[in-house]
Amino acid sequence: MKAIEVRNLKKSFDGGKIRALNGVDLEVEMGEFISIMGPSGSGKSTLLNMIGALDVPDSGTIKVAGRDLSEERDLSRLRAEEIGFVFQLHNLIPSLTALENVEIPMFAVKHVNMEERAMELLEQVGLGDKADRRPTELSGGERQRVAIARALANNPSIILADEPTGALDSKTSRNILQMLQKLQDEEGVTLVVVTHEPHVAEMASRTIRILDGVIVD
Ligand code: ADP
Ligand code: MG
Repeated sequence: MKAIEVRNLKKSFDGGKIRALNGVDLEVEMGEFISIMGPSGSGKSTLLNMIGALDVPDSGTIKVAGRDLSEERDLSRLRAEEIGFVFQLHNLIPSLTALENVEIPMFAVKHVNMEERAMELLEQVGLGDKADRRPTELSGGERQRVAIARALANNPSIILADEPTGALDSKTSRNILQMLQKLQDEEGVTLVVVTHEPHVAEMASRTIRILDGVIVD
């Protein structure tokens, strides 16, 4: 079974005026680390959002961990069970503490000892001592580490990251990437990382290049 199988994926916006994806095919093996590069507006986020079941395609098929997204009754559940999402600007909830932010995805899946699990995850990303801080009381790199801990909440088989280090300095960025790579190495997580940073792409086993909604390389 492939981690991700995308066939002839098409997506347009504004009643067809903007063709964001123009027939994308992509296969990602279980445990693979791929990066997706391409200029701004080329369709990277659109592709990732559809693989992550945050948006639906106009046509084409997407299978994640063998599950055809168009046949899933409950996409939010599939998302909670299989996929961890890390965004460029972390998308943490400002009024909640780091610990509470990490617990959020656990509400979608039956979990015992959510708080304990969330604490373990924060420790794993080196933030055990900052569990009670709110996002504004954390640095950019720390926020992104909380976002990674949150993405791991339900032990996803796949992590999708959309420019996860785009807002960070290069040292912090490397640190975040090493953390993601460790998950791939030690836990066999499949990683798909959208990036414009060559040093991030170099860490991946394969780089996909996308231009005007098609994979060119
Ligand atoms: P990238 O992530 O590579 O910068 P995107 O996937 O965000 O590119 O965008 C691809 C194209 O689709 C762009 O032309 C963008 O303006 C357009 N687009 C993306 N999302 C929307 C949306 N929700 N509504 C309208 N146009 C969109
Ligand atoms: Mg984008």
